[in-house]
Amino acid sequence: MNDTIIPCGRCSAKNRIPAAKRHLKPKCGKCGAELDLGGLRLPAVELGDGSFHGLVMNAALPVLVDFYSPTCGPCRAMMPVVDNLSARYHGRAIVAKLNTMANPAVASQFGIRGVPSFLFFKNGQLVDQMAGAVPEQLLIHKLDALL
Ligand SMILES: [Zn+2]
Repeated sequence: MNDTIIPCGRCSAKNRIPAAKRHLKPKCGKCGAELDLGGLRLPAVELGDGSFHGLVMNAALPVLVDFYSPTCGPCRAMMPVVDNLSARYHGRAIVAKLNTMANPAVASQFGIRGVPSFLFFKNGQLVDQMAGAVPEQLLIHKLDALL
């Protein structure tokens, strides 16, 4: 998991926030002030076979997961779009990605045949999905419908 170091706005203590926890309105470990992550433009949360269900199935927010392969050109082209969506929807939806080559169990569970594939979850249920390099506006449209 990719942790982020967040300096507290009140006491300047450095807080290590795991990517899967950062949508939970984390507080400073030293003084208890709520940490402001909204301005940080955090990239998509990297998920794996071990972390997927804990985050996606229990999330209070809608979740978009980009199933990708590091060797696929269209996947690489979509990476900045997905990271941009992560920043755009901070606090409203969780944007995550999963490397299907390193994590075949989850990809196989959802019958992922081609990458990139974009799966939308709400309340732990798969509610929508799209395959291929799709326009950012289409992903925005689908995410807005789940908010
Ligand atoms: Zn603090």
